[in-house]
Amino acid sequence: MKPRSVTVVVNDASESATLSVVDSLIALAEAITECRRCERLVEWREKIAEEKRAAYAEDEYWGRGVPGFGDPEAKVVIVGLAPAAHGANRTGRVFTGDRSGDFLFASLHRTGFANQPLARHVDDGLALHDAYVTAAVRCAPPANKPTPEERDNCRPYIEKELALLTESKVFVALGQFGYQVASSILGIRPRPKFGHGLVVPIEQQSDAIGRHVVCSFHPSQQNTFTGRLTEPMLDQVFITARELAGMDPI
Ligand code: SF4
Repeated sequence: MKPRSVTVVVNDASESATLSVVDSLIALAEAITECRRCERLVEWREKIAEEKRAAYAEDEYWGRGVPGFGDPEAKVVIVGLAPAAHGANRTGRVFTGDRSGDFLFASLHRTGFANQPLARHVDDGLALHDAYVTAAVRCAPPANKPTPEERDNCRPYIEKELALLTESKVFVALGQFGYQVASSILGIRPRPKFGHGLVVPIEQQSDAIGRHVVCSFHPSQQNTFTGRLTEPMLDQVFITARELAGMDPI
């Protein structure tokens, strides 16, 4: 199966510096979609794509590694766990086509980062501004639990991605797993205990705006259906991210 497309959105690629970043993000996306490093995850993602959920029986599942998505000049980078079996593993775009994504993108729309609240498929017109969404692991894992070896296998992809997102100021970690991987890559030691709303400075820079990690509970149904994570709680995380990134308030 060949990749259908990469999901990097170019909002303003008029400058050559931006173009080179986009070229690199596209190359990275292609590498992710071709990757077969984790035997267990490759087997799982392809099994799910073959068997499908009844509600999506007519869909052609993606069934491959899922690249990041968003604005190459993003100031805010959102780090999730891994693709959902019938969400991104079906649609090929991170957080797209499942309830977690519905909750996330609606919040990004309310807080000025997305042009629309809905994320259904790769051609739905969704565009992010000043935000980029990625994940610590790029293939759907059984029970949403990658092994430590799978996490480490996939780490070079997010490491490279974060390095390419040179305008990034704030990293929003959705859940403990994303927080652990992001804070390890960003050199946060010792790592403060995860908690919703936690803000962790990364380093002091000479300019006025330092970089930060902001933690949020993951917008999984387990959290959103139980009220552990509400819409105002997630909106506040992105409002805080805007402030820390030096962006205009909404
Ligand atoms: S999880 Fe990452 S390293 Fe493992 S097969 Fe998928 S893309 Fe490759």
